[in-house]
Amino acid sequence: MSEKKKYWLENYGCQMNKAEASAIELELQEEGWLPADNENDADLAIINTCTVRKTAENRIWGRIGHYKHLKKTKEIKLAVIGCMAENWKDQLKKDAPAVDIIAGTKGQKLLIRKLTGDYTGQEDFLEDNRYSFHSDHGSKDSINALVPIMHGCNNFCSYCIVPYVRGREVSRDSEEILKEIRKLAESGVQDVTLLGQNVNSYHDVVNGIDFASLLRMITSETDIPRIRFLSSHPKDLNDDIIEVMATEKNICNHLHLPVQHGSTKVLADMNRRYSKEDYLLLVEKLRSRIPQISLTTDIMVGFPGETEEDMAELEDLMNKVKFSESFTYFYNPREGTKAYNRGDSLPEELKKKRLSRIIELQRRISRDVFEKRIGTVVEVIAERVSKKSDKEILGRTERNETVLFTGSREMIGKSLQVKIKSMRGQTFFGEEVSCPGE
Ligand code: SF4
Repeated sequence: MSEKKKYWLENYGCQMNKAEASAIELELQEEGWLPADNENDADLAIINTCTVRKTAENRIWGRIGHYKHLKKTKEIKLAVIGCMAENWKDQLKKDAPAVDIIAGTKGQKLLIRKLTGDYTGQEDFLEDNRYSFHSDHGSKDSINALVPIMHGCNNFCSYCIVPYVRGREVSRDSEEILKEIRKLAESGVQDVTLLGQNVNSYHDVVNGIDFASLLRMITSETDIPRIRFLSSHPKDLNDDIIEVMATEKNICNHLHLPVQHGSTKVLADMNRRYSKEDYLLLVEKLRSRIPQISLTTDIMVGFPGETEEDMAELEDLMNKVKFSESFTYFYNPREGTKAYNRGDSLPEELKKKRLSRIIELQRRISRDVFEKRIGTVVEVIAERVSKKSDKEILGRTERNETVLFTGSREMIGKSLQVKIKSMRGQTFFGEEVSCPGE
């Protein structure tokens, strides 16, 4: 009997990449392939790439160089797939002969056939422009799962490469989404995150289902206790969506709402299509309908032309909204985007300084937000045994907070009441209590 072939998959970038990588793994396994322990043990290496930031791209070029050397000592095929492969296809073809397969984010059906088939020389099939959703994205742990519901983006924020590499918005069939979620529920998944570049503009035209209706369908027709979604665009988060979040108890009191900046001038330059005031009004509306909601965000500093006054506007917004957490970064020009033509007007030193300022401010705000949770009893779904001790369990609240408490493996998957006693960094330490308020 011939030995089974092995693959090694490296994934970079966003949650969407993570979900797509899981789906590819599942399909390879269905074809009889096994996951390798490392690349030295693999017949096929796949790099699922990201092109959103330069740092990710640099790392990936480094990994391609690593495989070039590895190929001198062992037989291994290399596939470079995803956003960066799409964006840098010509350079990959020209400068990276070690890469055997190049594929973008589309044409996945053909990709799997190619990955598992025989091929010689470098092949690409970027010409297949159709995005198709996988039917199953599985989940390595059985409590959480990522479910893509749409792909691509029509917004063209001036700094962002995503609409160019992933293309225009495509929404997944609502029935298919329900089918995948029902299957996940049967396998014990309790916490599902619906994914897309801009989930709020989801629209299954054939069945006449928009995002709010999809949320209603999922809560009424499946048994998943917790539903989240990622990412939302502030301009598309309408009253109907807020109403579903407020009324359906399975929709988590947690929203990731990328603001990107607090200066209306910078927001306009970024083509975000809302002002600082619009964003603050939206937050007010959310908090009045869902008082317990926890808000997280993305913030970019150092956009061309950003002044000290703009920074003060951003700090003011952060102080007003009090995000639980912010994912912060500084501007990197991406060739092909509108902002690229503006040049990179701020020196890197200044961008780094502003970034540190924002990180420090967010640290203080997060501490204030989290300190208020100490002493309260929260509902936690136990997710896994801690890596440090098998007597400690890690769980999550619906506000997406991590809680560590004493317990046993049997608790995994159960919904428990935990009293928060203390915190370190972004982790709470608690104690399971038999009834709320104890
Ligand atoms: S909404 Fe803007 S930042 Fe987000 S993927 Fe679309 S273009 Fe990029």
